[in-house]
Amino acid sequence: PATFTHQFDTPLYKGTSSFNTGLFIDGKFVDGSNKTTIDVFNPTTGKLLTSVSEGTEKDVDLAVEAAQKAFETVWGLNTPGAQRGELLWKIAQALEKHAEELAALESLDNGKTFTWALNVDVKGTIDAFKYFAGWADKIHGKTIETNETKLAYTRNEPIGVVGQIIPWNFPLLMWSWKIAPALATGNTIVMKCSEFTPLSALRATAILHEAGVPNGVLNLVTGYGNTVGAAISSHMKIDKVAFTGSTLVGRKIMEAAAKSNLKNVTLELGGKSPNIIFNDADLDQAVKWASHGIFFNHGQTCTAGSRIFVQSGIYDKFLQNFTQAAKSIKIGSPFEQGIDQGPQVSQIQFDRIMGYIDSGKADGATVHLGGERHGSEGYFINPTIFTDTKPDMKIVQEEIFGPVAVVVKFDDPADAIKQANNTSYGLASAIFTQNLNLAIETAHKLQAGTAWINCVNHVDVQIPFGGYKQSGIGREGGEYALANYTNVKAVHVNLGYKI
Ligand code: NAD
Repeated sequence: PATFTHQFDTPLYKGTSSFNTGLFIDGKFVDGSNKTTIDVFNPTTGKLLTSVSEGTEKDVDLAVEAAQKAFETVWGLNTPGAQRGELLWKIAQALEKHAEELAALESLDNGKTFTWALNVDVKGTIDAFKYFAGWADKIHGKTIETNETKLAYTRNEPIGVVGQIIPWNFPLLMWSWKIAPALATGNTIVMKCSEFTPLSALRATAILHEAGVPNGVLNLVTGYGNTVGAAISSHMKIDKVAFTGSTLVGRKIMEAAAKSNLKNVTLELGGKSPNIIFNDADLDQAVKWASHGIFFNHGQTCTAGSRIFVQSGIYDKFLQNFTQAAKSIKIGSPFEQGIDQGPQVSQIQFDRIMGYIDSGKADGATVHLGGERHGSEGYFINPTIFTDTKPDMKIVQEEIFGPVAVVVKFDDPADAIKQANNTSYGLASAIFTQNLNLAIETAHKLQAGTAWINCVNHVDVQIPFGGYKQSGIGREGGEYALANYTNVKAVHVNLGYKI
């Protein structure tokens, strides 16, 4: 397979990255069975960067075979938890050595700023391996009392071969949030990263192999969703699929699982997260967090606070200051000093977001700020604020996944909660107030897997993360993630009961 070599000569990072762009199966980089490739573009310029191997259904079969062999020989119940934990810690250290290179690849391929890529994506990736390293030898069952003639206990056993399918918005972070808990619990993996952003996963997979992950334990099949993704979710020998991506595709994954072998499914899907700002909030802080909530990662965050409800007493002042905050966002190359916002990830996403902006205009909402592309090259969009929206407008109901916020005025807290819950999603929510009772009462009434009080977009690997309603099934992060990757076996031992 081909090698991609890139010389970074930027104000924030100088260095060379060189790695194989094949499929990674059974410890080796190989070409796809059709020998075809997928083009990868630089979102900052819109120009071709490189191409990577395109996997097929047959390649998924080969990867599953390798993963199954590894599960039965070198991983799973053959390797004690302490040993798996040690390897996870070594992986974290190996990734740390390549932190800047990985961040640079992420910025190049995804368009996120180098500084954020380093401090959020790569740091979060290393944290995930360290955190789950600690769990690997602490996966205990229970003994359960029934009567004196019985010893009953449970074991949390690895599931076996797990399929994992991830999106392009946090390519490396999502890769680590899938891989680290799966390895800690003893599973072997067939991973598919997004066809839009495969570079960091390819590089990091090679780093994991060098760190000592045995052949076949981690396999990476780059390819398209409707071929490789579909083959994973309908595979008869994959016993679990973990997916992060859109609700639309999540539905297809579940359907494929149901129609094939009823594999276990966990889903981390989209969101349309509400951000409720009450009259007594610290206005300066609420403005800064709300701006971060929607504009961080160019709005391409599943938890993006895209619906901002502001109480009438501070609405005008909030809107004025929030507009200033949005205007002060510096847009440009992710490798320049002081840049806050890079390009959207792809032409497709750019067109999709502009389509939503057009629909907001056509539905009669007011474009309070932005609403147009930035510059003439690459996929840049100016931070956009809509006001005068109605609850049933597409821009209020659907996930835009771009730097587009709707700001809505409310009087009564009960009405704000009702509007906030008026969505098919339930991933995250945020509340700004200095009244502790109001904050907690509101947090408990919001239908979402996360409620942030006086902050937004804080995600820690120690804390469970996932969705209510159509935002998903299962929890990643924390001890909860272990349940995603283990089967519980109940063992009954007869201590003398006779029939
Ligand atoms: P997507 O659903 O289009 O793609 C995600 C992955 O699924 C990709 O690897 C894609 O190739 C694959 N895929 C596509 N069609 C498939 C099929 N038929 N069968 C199997 N796999 C298929 O999502 P995206 O555009 O890459 O990412 C953006 C979405 O991800 C947003 O909706 C966002 O909210 C969501 N997201 C959710 C979380 C979370 O934790 N809840 C985190 C990040 C992103």
